[in-house]
Amino acid sequence: MLPSRRAVRAWVVIACALAVVAVDAPISDGATLVRAGVVDAGSLQPRIVWKKIPFGSKRKRQMAAYSKRHYGERSYVLDDPKVIVEHYTDGDSFQSAWNYFAANVRHLGEMPGVCSHFIVDTDGTTYQLVNLKIRCRHTIGLNDSAIGIEMVGTSDAQILHRKPQLRAALKLTLWLVARFGIEVRNVIGHAESLRSPYHHELYASWRCMTHSDWLHPDMQIFRRKLRRMARANGVPIGPKPAWVDSGC
Ligand SMILES: [Zn+2]
Repeated sequence: MLPSRRAVRAWVVIACALAVVAVDAPISDGATLVRAGVVDAGSLQPRIVWKKIPFGSKRKRQMAAYSKRHYGERSYVLDDPKVIVEHYTDGDSFQSAWNYFAANVRHLGEMPGVCSHFIVDTDGTTYQLVNLKIRCRHTIGLNDSAIGIEMVGTSDAQILHRKPQLRAALKLTLWLVARFGIEVRNVIGHAESLRSPYHHELYASWRCMTHSDWLHPDMQIFRRKLRRMARANGVPIGPKPAWVDSGC
């Protein structure tokens, strides 16, 4: 989104004071630098265990075709992610979730199968399944702009009380926020997907479809903790939320 005039003026002042920032660094309304490169995102990277699911040329073609049907553009590339969507698996094991994502089974009558870039296990072990340059099908209306994080569990409340897992999910999210300059307001729960300004869906019958994982009140708690962690690590938070009325 374009910065406001007020933010532009503030940017000029800040730019004069800080000669180190990049010329094209986008800024937020609060004149917070969200992509100034002043935070070393690499230092925030948590330990990640790679456990790739098969995502060869056939699945990439399926993802590109899905993108064409639902977003109007044939691409499987996740370029410049703007949103992070938090999910829970609605199961109690990492392996069952991994198996389901790996199987590439038809969902809502369409291929490719659903997937997620990450799964955070109950003990906090963080697995990566898909390269961050690839679109994963995890949230209707947002798969062309969002990274997906699944947490093993059956409710928001359960995970909010499971400290190692919650902390790992927060650390992973914070690293991605810093790495891609994602605003904290765009760290959303799956259940908040329809209210995201990035949500768009060409199928009228799918436009109001979402899930009930990570409801708004629980994501308010998650984002509060994330903001606290961001401040402690010098990671820019960005402006206040700008929810949209989906009309659903
Ligand atoms: Zn979900």
